[in-house]
Amino acid sequence: MSAQDDARSKEDPATSAESTAPFEISLGVGQYRIAAKGDLPTGPARVVDLLPILHQLSDAMTDIGIQEATSDGKTITCAPHCGACCRQMVPITYSEARLLVEWMIDLPEERRMELMARFDAAVARMEESGLLQRLHAYRHGDQDTLRQLGSDYFDLHIPCPFLEDESCSIHPIRPLRCRDYLVTSSAELCKSPYTSKPSVIWPPISLFVKLIDFPPEMSAANTDGSHVRQWFPMTLMMEWARSVDAEVAPTQMSAGNLINSFFASFAEKPTPAEEPAPGGTFNSPS
Ligand code: SF4
Repeated sequence: MSAQDDARSKEDPATSAESTAPFEISLGVGQYRIAAKGDLPTGPARVVDLLPILHQLSDAMTDIGIQEATSDGKTITCAPHCGACCRQMVPITYSEARLLVEWMIDLPEERRMELMARFDAAVARMEESGLLQRLHAYRHGDQDTLRQLGSDYFDLHIPCPFLEDESCSIHPIRPLRCRDYLVTSSAELCKSPYTSKPSVIWPPISLFVKLIDFPPEMSAANTDGSHVRQWFPMTLMMEWARSVDAEVAPTQMSAGNLINSFFASFAEKPTPAEEPAPGGTFNSPS
């Protein structure tokens, strides 16, 4: 990112936690410039409050990946109604889970029950196969173990609970990792990603990978006090929601300062062009 990175709230943040103010952010990423805007709380903020901005920036990062792939003569082969990758073990952060759970709480009851039934069916499938127990046991495994868990999860053919008609039913609020993933190879390869190895276009910076290392996001884990790099499979989201406090305390920072802190936390660190599946500690929601 460039030294001219600029994030600012247009109003003095020293106002009540309930009020919001227009917010804009502009970042230099290599030769590119990306931007996002929205209304953010002016008082102490939670990481989840930043997600509408991070979603926009993540999409802009993905657009950079597409632009560079296209200039290399590649073509994105992802197409509407192809939900092959939506059967992978999609990782989400705690704040992303909070966003989705809070969104589900506001749904009409019938719709909420429909979605919760899909989550329960997914967890039951994982449990009967023994994978749920293996995921709960996995806390400090290596990448090989993580990869095997991902492969075995895919073999269960569990569709994401939000997948409908092979399309994402929560497209505007889908997780960051879903925004990272595009391919340039045949859709057929996506039906067996662990053996066929589709050609994935990664964004220059994965905000999902950065978010799981962001200290306030670790604090937001709010589970057993072990605030380490954390994520969990999205299909365990309702299990997690039932196991934690409904509320998470806001940080001591305004949204503007929090988002500046997020980008400052990795601005000086080199980012590999290709980000593999998240490593580090998997923390079971059990
Ligand atoms: S949230 Fe949407 S894009 Fe992500 S796995 Fe589920 S259906 Fe697919």
